[in-house]
Amino acid sequence: LKRKARKYDKDAREVKQAAVLGAGIMGGGIAYQSALKGTPILLKDIREESIRQGLAEADKQLAKRVEKGRLTVGQMAEVLNGIRPTLSYGDFPQVDLVVEAVVERLEVKQAVLAEVEAQVPGEAVIASNTSTISISRLADSLKRPQRFCGMHFFNPVPLMPLVEVIRGRQTDERTIATTVAYARKMGKTPIVVNDCPGFLVNRVLFPYLAGFTRLLAAGIDFRRIDRVMEGFGWPMGPAYLLDVVGIDTAVHARNVLAEGYPERMKEEGDTAIDVLLRAGRLGQKSGSGFYAYE
Ligand code: NAD
Repeated sequence: LKRKARKYDKDAREVKQAAVLGAGIMGGGIAYQSALKGTPILLKDIREESIRQGLAEADKQLAKRVEKGRLTVGQMAEVLNGIRPTLSYGDFPQVDLVVEAVVERLEVKQAVLAEVEAQVPGEAVIASNTSTISISRLADSLKRPQRFCGMHFFNPVPLMPLVEVIRGRQTDERTIATTVAYARKMGKTPIVVNDCPGFLVNRVLFPYLAGFTRLLAAGIDFRRIDRVMEGFGWPMGPAYLLDVVGIDTAVHARNVLAEGYPERMKEEGDTAIDVLLRAGRLGQKSGSGFYAYE
C-alpha cells in the first residue's frame, strides 16, 4: 500500500495550516493527530461545548503520552498550541486543507462545505470524513469540485493507521496528491480509492458483519463468535466491534451498503442489530448493546 501511494508525492501542495470542521469524536482526534505530527490546525465547531470536549480529549491523549515518557511536558504544550479552537471562519483564508467532520447528514454537510469553500483560498483542498455519503454527491454543492475529495479516518484516530482518500467524479490529481501527503505527514497509511458505497473498508467489513448476524439467526451465541474471531487473531470479535462502532451507526452504514449492493447485502426481515437499535441498545455509548457496560 505504501509503495503504491508514493507516486502521488510529486504533485502534492504542502499543507502548512489545516482546519477541521466539527469537534466531535473524529474532529477532536484529527486535530490532535495533525498537531502532534507538526501541522497546526484550526478546530471549528458551532458549539462551544463541543470544542471544550474535543480539546479535553486531546489533553487526555497527550497526558497519556507524557505518562508513558513519549512526550515531555514542553512538547505537550507545543502540540496543544498547534490546535486553535474557533467558532468563526476568521482565520480560514490562511488554510491549505480542511477536513469536514460534522454530523453524517447530506444536507448539513453540503451546506457546511459550500460555506467553508467561500472562506478558503481557491487552491485549498476540502476533504470530507464521511463514512457513507457519496463524495461526488457531496461535491454537487461546490463551485470547485476538483479540489474536493474524501479523507476517511477510522476511530480512534490516533490509533488507527489507515486513511481512505476517496476520488470523486471531478476530483483532480493534485487534490489527491495533497491529501495523500498530508495523511502521510500525520503518520497514517493512505490508500486511494474510487467513490462507491462503503468505499473499500466498509465494503469488506459489512459483508463480514452480515455473516455474523446470519450466524446469530441460526442460533449461535454471539460471545462464542467473538471468542472464535479473537482466537483467530482479530483484535476484537464482531459483537464487541459493533458495540464500539455504535449500533445506530452500524445499521445506517449497513443500509447504505444494502442499497448499493442488494444482491450481496439484502436481508429478509430484521437482523440482530435492527432489534438492538429498536430497543435503544446502541452499544458502548448507551451503556448496552450486545454486552452491558458499566
Ligand atoms: P460527532 O457527533 O461526535 O461530532 C460532530 C460534531 O459536528 C459535533 O461536535 C457538532 O457540534 C459539530 N457540528 C454540527 N454542525 C456543524 C457545523 N455546521 N459546523 C461545525 N461543526 C458542526 O460525530 P463523529 O462521530 O465525530 O462523526 C463526524 C463525521 O465522521 C461523520 O461524517 C461520521 O460519519 C464520520 N466518521 C465517524 C466515525 C466514528 O466512528 N465515529 C468513523 C469514521 C468517520
